[in-house]
Order: sequence, then structure tokens, then C-alpha cells
Amino acid sequence: MKIIIIGGGLVGSLAAVFLGQKGHEVHLYEYRQDPRGTTLNEGRSINLALSMRGRTALRAVGLEKIVLQKAIPMDGRMIHKTDGTTSSITYDPVLKNCIYSVGRKHLNELLLDEAENSPNVHLHFGKKLLKVNVSSGTITLKVPDGATEEVKGDLIIGADGAHSAVRRDLMKATPVTFSQTYIDHGYLELSIPPENNHMMAPNHLHIWPRGKFMMIALPNLDGSWTVTLFMPLSSFTTLRATKDILGFFQTHFSDAVELIGADRLVRTFMANEASHLVSIKCSKYHYGSKVVIIGDAAHAMVPFFGQGMNAGFEDCTILNDLLHNHDYSVNRALELFSIKRNPDAEAICDLAMYNYIEMRDLVNRKSFIIRKTVDNM
Ligand code: FAD
Repeated sequence: MKIIIIGGGLVGSLAAVFLGQKGHEVHLYEYRQDPRGTTLNEGRSINLALSMRGRTALRAVGLEKIVLQKAIPMDGRMIHKTDGTTSSITYDPVLKNCIYSVGRKHLNELLLDEAENSPNVHLHFGKKLLKVNVSSGTITLKVPDGATEEVKGDLIIGADGAHSAVRRDLMKATPVTFSQTYIDHGYLELSIPPENNHMMAPNHLHIWPRGKFMMIALPNLDGSWTVTLFMPLSSFTTLRATKDILGFFQTHFSDAVELIGADRLVRTFMANEASHLVSIKCSKYHYGSKVVIIGDAAHAMVPFFGQGMNAGFEDCTILNDLLHNHDYSVNRALELFSIKRNPDAEAICDLAMYNYIEMRDLVNRKSFIIRKTVDNM
């Protein structure tokens, strides 16, 4: 089959690995430049929590061990209280299961390299999907010199993220129930430099739960930590001046000022806007035997369960299984993908959203701090 994948993010590149290994002629189109060899860290978060769903998919293509070699195990949460004291909660003291912090860029690059190891996989960067003719399986791309190019495939997979152009054209061609919810919280990424690593308990996902807002930190291989502050967007706009930013942190996250460094903290706040968070549900995910959407294109979710990438990776496992391990026609495989995947994907979206509401309203309950934190990842 000639398969076109739109989007070379985490999910599109893993789909290319799966389908390349099955011997299909795969063409992946990504509108950004090839991330390999650049120092640019584009994307929504620098590191992510990898959990069992994602590991299962990586294992299926022989990459789990390689990914885990450069991943940092997080076998517990470290709760930072307002007074600066901390307490550790182990995730799984009996079976010792844990989640892993992985670098988004590293993982994306590794998946692209692996995809290219199949000679039948072709990666095309700097080409933007403009439209999809879903009934003929033809796509129109904008190429770097500004011209357009048409390509036809047997199957088009939209892995082009929350604002998917494939989904937009799918919805024009067939009835799709669709909803999109922006929550009133946004996020800002900060960082703890490697020289302060010794002040952070290793192998933990650190959490500063504060009722209406919270902060988390995940470790990076270079000894730095990526810190994410989640807060109402309206609160971000009140923190513009140095004294307000530092005052806010000294009141709510006193230990984080030293960890991040006052100068770095203020600089990051002043140089960056908070990003929005969106949850997207749609049903169905396919059109005939020609088009299917996966990953955030099908089910973007708020990040409070740390399951967006993991669920997208699981899509790849399920789609691959339906396309290859049964005697289904492509049409039937895609139909079953929509039927099978949708309730689970929507349930994860709901759980992620529910956890956001829990955090916002109930986080000060003692039981919540123990059980219901962001890191059900
Ligand atoms: P994307 O990563 O959005 O990739 C889509 C790709 O398609 C992009 O490369 C884009 O350039 C390309 N594209 C878009 N439009 C076009 C076009 N028209 N033509 C060509 N190419 C196009 N998930 C976890 O599992 N664990 C976590 O810990 C976690 N933490 C998160 C923290 C934050 C703050 C956020 C916001 C998300 C987090 N997620 C996490 C979710 C995770 O980032 C996403 O679920 C994941 O990146 C989705 O991958 P994707 O490939 O489907 O989409």
C-alpha cells in the first residue's frame, strides 16, 4: 500500500516506523524542517512522561529498550508544600512500576531515524498539507518555494496534531461529531539548571499542588529539570513586573525561587506568554478506506494525566494490529479503529479533564494530595 502520513511529530513518526516495518511505501509530510541536527526545541513540552501504553507501542517496533536507555525513571511523586518541606510518595512500592521522563526532541529524532531505516519510508520536511480530497485520496501540499504539489495515496493518516487539517477535511466529507474545549488554565515552562540538580530529589516527579494552580517538574538527562506552571490564564497576565513575579513565587513556591534562580525566573516570565490547553473529541476517525486520524488530531487532551503521547502511541499499536493481524479489508480495519478506539480515547480525555477540575477545586484536601495529582501518567 502507498501510505501518506501527515505530521512528523511523535505519533506520525511512530506510525511511519510501524508501517515501514510492514513493508508499505510510506511518505511522511511534515511542514517544519527536519528537527535532527538542530538545537531548536520546538513542541509543547520539552520532556514527557512515558507510561505503559507508550512503552507497549515502542516495544512492538523494537524501540522500548533503546528509549529507556535515555529515559529517567520516576518511581514516585515528591510533593512540595507551601512551607518548603517535601514528602515522597512511591507509585508502586510492591511491583516497582514507574513512569519515565523522556526528552521530546530526542524521542522524535529517534523515531524519525528508525523510520528511515526502512528504505520504503520517505520523509519530506518543509511541506505543508493544504487540503485532502478524502474520496480520491489526493493531498495538496505547499512546498518550500511556495508552489503546490499533489500526491495520491491508498491511505492517508492524519497525525497532524490538535489543529489537524486532515480532520478539517474529513469533517467536510462525512458526519463527524466534534467538540473542542479550551480550559481557562494555561501553562508556562520554566527550568531548573543542572547546577541546582543536587537540590532536587532524583527519580521523582516533583509537584507543587496549590489549589487553583500548581507546578510540576520532570528531570532531563543533562541534570536540568523542566518545570511547568499551570495556572488560570488571567493570573498569568497579572504577573508582569519583577516584584509581582518574585512576590508570587515567594508566597506560593518559596523553594522554587532558589531552585530556578530569581533572574532566570523573571526572565522566562517576561520573555514568554502562557500557552493554551485544549481538549478535542471527535467521532468518527475515518473515511472509507482512504483517511484516518490518530494522536492529538483525533483526541487532544489536557495534560493532567500525562497520557496524550501515550494514547497516540497506543493508536499506532491498535491501527497496526487492525491493518495487519486480521483478514479485514482496509475499509473494515478503519471502521473498527473508529469504533474500538473512540470510547477509550474519550474516556482518557474525560479523565484528564476531570483531574484538572479536581486539582483546581479539591487539591487542598489531604486525600487528594495523596491520590489525585497530575502524575497519573
Ligand atoms: P503533534 O505533536 O502536535 O505533532 C503534529 C505534527 O504535525 C507537528 O510536527 C506539526 O508540525 C505537523 N503538522 C501540523 N499541521 C501540518 C500540516 N498541515 N502539514 C504538515 N504537517 C503538519 N503526553 C504524554 O503522554 N505525557 C506527558 O507527560 C505529556 N505532557 C504534556 C505536557 C504539556 C504541557 C502538553 C501541552 C502536552 C503534553 N502531552 C503529554 C501531550 C503530548 O504532547 C501530545 O499528546 C503529543 O505531542 C501528540 O503528538 P502528535 O504527533 O499527535 O501531535
